[in-house]
Amino acid sequence: MSVAPHQMTLSDLAAALRAREFSAQEVARHFLVRVERHAGLNAFLATDPEASLAQARAADQRLAAGESAPLLGVPIAHKDIFVTRDFPTTAGSRMLAGYRSPFDATVVRRLGEAGAVTLGKLNCDEFAMGSSNENSAFGAVKNPWDVERTPGGSSGGSAAAVAAALVPAATGTDTGGSIRQPASFCGITGIKPTYGRASRYGMVAFASSLDQAGPMARSAHDCALLLSAFCGPDPDRDSTSLDTPAEDFSRGLDAPLDGLRIGVPREFFGEGLAADVRAAIDAALAHYRRLGARLVDISLPLTELSIPVYYVIAAAEASSNLSRFDGVKFGHRAAKYTDLLDMYKKTRAEAFGDEVKRRIMIGTYVLSHGYYDAYYLQAQKIRRMIADDFRRAFAECDLIAGPVAPTVAWKLGAKSDDPVANYLADIFTLPGSLAGLPGMSIPCGFGEGGMPVGLQLLGNYFGEARLLNAAHRFQQTTDFHTQAPEGFEA
Ligand code: GLN
Repeated sequence: MSVAPHQMTLSDLAAALRAREFSAQEVARHFLVRVERHAGLNAFLATDPEASLAQARAADQRLAAGESAPLLGVPIAHKDIFVTRDFPTTAGSRMLAGYRSPFDATVVRRLGEAGAVTLGKLNCDEFAMGSSNENSAFGAVKNPWDVERTPGGSSGGSAAAVAAALVPAATGTDTGGSIRQPASFCGITGIKPTYGRASRYGMVAFASSLDQAGPMARSAHDCALLLSAFCGPDPDRDSTSLDTPAEDFSRGLDAPLDGLRIGVPREFFGEGLAADVRAAIDAALAHYRRLGARLVDISLPLTELSIPVYYVIAAAEASSNLSRFDGVKFGHRAAKYTDLLDMYKKTRAEAFGDEVKRRIMIGTYVLSHGYYDAYYLQAQKIRRMIADDFRRAFAECDLIAGPVAPTVAWKLGAKSDDPVANYLADIFTLPGSLAGLPGMSIPCGFGEGGMPVGLQLLGNYFGEARLLNAAHRFQQTTDFHTQAPEGFEA
């Protein structure tokens, strides 16, 4: 092996496996050693070498039989929000410590059927609530670019693991930015598809009208391969999965961008945007112009309102979804209690973290009689208006581009006592989430402290192929996505 497996992209790795340059078992072992060596990042919550090697053996048999599926034998890892039969699932919560699902999430099952080998489960904010991974009951994840900084959240383990090349690709989930923001903070590529394109079956529910699965990898090409393997209808298991058939998202990656109209929302470039991030975004937009795209000035006037709207709706849905954790059906149960009500109370008081409790309380409040109209219903109305603004914007442009987050990754602890400061930093990812649009983050430069900056690309409904095409062309002509954090290259 001249190039080690962790220095290869997922697609190159798959090709090398097909050419039998190495076996799936060798590749799995290679990555498991790296996972072990960099355990200090706290990216993985669970590994099980025996289970992974059994999957790798099965992939090797398929390869030996001449099968050539695009993901056959490549290692991946799953955000610990996806339930898995072969590994425990915690959703980053003490509530589910030690829980093992009797079935695989649809996304997990489809990737497994495509031949991907699961290396383990990745740390995340508790029930995917957070933007820094500090809300995990199992400790924060460290950013490989600077271990004193957050990798972002809630898919922080996924982003850190890919950036550190502990695994070539991972799954994440995005409710209000949790794929795009950690991808941006860790200098990797991630895509959240249109709401409903990927099945939510087996994803531990946070806010069901927003939750969506997506891949996180080192390139748009890699993301396209993964997305193609797991999108598509799942009518018997997720009634909100759309009946649009799966596509081969890698097909149109090379198409030229001549004449592509890229909308630049002026609300994304206001005072709150840090100068270093702004400089990287401006340079990326200029690069797109060189690639043949035309920049169009657009307006998304309700951008600021997306924060209160999201934090009302997401909390409302969370309060309902999390009522299932009652100490009876699964997960933690208090050891001592006097009666049923006391058991519920103690169980939930003991096993939920502060942020989860905060959201359950907010959610219960905004749904309660007397406040429902003032908060929840009002938020739903504005959610619709935000989607309408995008509809108008997409009459003038094909894609929208801007920053993912107002700053680069901040220091661990810097915002951990201030939930509102965390919420405010979601401003650029929330509008697309509320509208259900597909969105990406691609590495586009470096800012303060040498930290990566991500460019956000938003597409119209079902615009994944176009997004991936624009991202791929950018990556063919830049090298931000190929850079590795110091200490993790070799
Ligand atoms: N940061 C947002 C939140 O805390 C988004 C999280 C997510 O997308 N899962 O809710």
